[in-house]
Amino acid sequence: MKINGRTKIAGIFGDPVDHTVSPAMHNAAFEALGLDMVYVPFHVRSKPVYELKRAVESIRALNLKGVNVTIPHKERVLKYLDEIDEHAREVGAVNSIVNRNGKLTGYNTDGPGYLLSLKKETGFTPKGKNIIVLGAGGAARSILYSILDKNPRSVVIANRTSRRAEDLSTEFMEKFPVEIHAVKLEKRSIGPYMEKAGLLVNTTSIGMKGNGSFDLPFESLPGDAVVSDIVYVPLDTALLKAAKARRLKTHHGLSMLVGQGAITFELWTGKKAPVDIMRGSAMRALGLK
Ligand code: NAP
Repeated sequence: MKINGRTKIAGIFGDPVDHTVSPAMHNAAFEALGLDMVYVPFHVRSKPVYELKRAVESIRALNLKGVNVTIPHKERVLKYLDEIDEHAREVGAVNSIVNRNGKLTGYNTDGPGYLLSLKKETGFTPKGKNIIVLGAGGAARSILYSILDKNPRSVVIANRTSRRAEDLSTEFMEKFPVEIHAVKLEKRSIGPYMEKAGLLVNTTSIGMKGNGSFDLPFESLPGDAVVSDIVYVPLDTALLKAAKARRLKTHHGLSMLVGQGAITFELWTGKKAPVDIMRGSAMRALGLK
């Protein structure tokens, strides 16, 4: 990588930001396409609260091409931007900012990146399907919006704190003409929905190292169901291992990470993202290759 006076800068705002694999992924993509761009991590602290506002102002002041936004800034950043893309506004969170001549536009590429990678790797599209989403946090919200927008037959939202699942389902039912059920994340509540599910996706942090495992009747999923897990450390979670043992199609969290990165890359550069290169460098950064 050669930095010169014309090099354009992109980056990521987060706290913490030291474990991010996005620099590896985007820098490999810039290099592969011969773009004079570089991607760097910016540790933007959550406190004092004015730090995020100042960091967003610096995108204009330093003429950055754009930035990714990660925990804990994804929701709070909206109020500092000039324009919010419709999907990001609906989701209420921004993970990518694009600077067009000083005008800052916020996007959310998590849900679209999820669906893009799911289709590419398993052929699955939500239209007319029964879908079970485990979790009701920030990631679930962006994935659910993208899924509901594609006319599934039904969606079950299952969460440890059932109130959060209920709140999400109430909100979504006002916006989408889809049958939505909110249940507690437990065997007897989810069991009845398993045998008709076309997709089961874990959006909780269960399955991450040290975060426990599921006690759910996965054996009743149909043989053509897709099992997806957005956790990516480890890459092969216990959920995905169980699905593979049953020869079900699987989709892992790194694919979503690469999918969202690819869409953001295209927003910044106007060029098609070299997805395989991005995936390879993300895997190397995680020590998986
Ligand atoms: P979040 O907003 O904090 O939501 C966490 C979710 O996990 C909630 O539904 C929470 O349930 C549930 N949960 C946490 N611990 C649990 C436990 N021990 N038992 C049952 N449920 C539990 O977090 P998030 O931003 O949505 O992220 C969730 C996961 O997705 C994380 O592992 C994150 O690394 C991963 N992620 C991956 C990508 C990707 O690109 N692959 C992108 C974003 C996030 P309660 O509501 O009951 O607390």
